[in-house]
Amino acid sequence: MFFRHWRRKRILRDHLIPQTAWETTVSNLPLLHGLTEDELLRLRQLATLFLHEKSLEPVEGLQLDHAMRYDLAAQTVLPILNLGIDWYDGWTSLVLYPDEFATRQDWMDEAGVVHARREIRSGEAWQIGPVVLSWADVTASGGCEGYNAVIHEMAHKLDMSNGAMDGCPRLSDAMTAAAWRHAFKPAYEDFCRRVDDGEETPLDPYAAEAPEEFFAVMSEYFFEWPELLHQEYPAVYEQLAQFYRQDTLCRLASLAASFSS
Ligand SMILES: [Zn+2]
Repeated sequence: MFFRHWRRKRILRDHLIPQTAWETTVSNLPLLHGLTEDELLRLRQLATLFLHEKSLEPVEGLQLDHAMRYDLAAQTVLPILNLGIDWYDGWTSLVLYPDEFATRQDWMDEAGVVHARREIRSGEAWQIGPVVLSWADVTASGGCEGYNAVIHEMAHKLDMSNGAMDGCPRLSDAMTAAAWRHAFKPAYEDFCRRVDDGEETPLDPYAAEAPEEFFAVMSEYFFEWPELLHQEYPAVYEQLAQFYRQDTLCRLASLAASFSS
């Protein structure tokens, strides 16, 4: 632990993301605009550590320059701004495709016959193993429009922090699994019913796939469009604010107020 701490201090001293490049990254990502100077400095430090501790692996001809790396890292560490980089322990690779990618999954039917299924994806997070993202989806994220493929996959990684990917991450002592369930279960059931009824929900219907997808998609809205999440499922917003230790609603509202004044 001591060595790790010492190593991180050296990285931050010698390799902190340069100021000008960082300012460009922040200005390109509306998602970050409500953060205070202190929060932006901590985010820059976390992004720096992330780039040193994880290996970004572009495939299929994708070329990554510094600006792209900073842009990705800034969004990746936003969920752990007040949790710490240790929450991303246990995996090292982030594989990046230029665009959506096909995955092959084998599954066995009741008769014991194995079938192969191909699916087109924008991201993937493995229980023990890499995160996979499509760069086209990374660039479509961060605009405060409710979609964020990076935060989605990171939410899956955080969800796995207590072992299972089930829509409930490891909770702090100040939180309880009962309160989490009390907020998420009825919201998920209500959302599934609305989607099944064919309602045009303002939230992405993909959230109805499974409780873990609901958590990941609600995390996207928590950071990208908290007003909408708060309007639809305020109790879910409250639990996410406690888990992430961020008040995104207040942050983006104060930003809107500063624009109008
Ligand atoms: Zn997902």
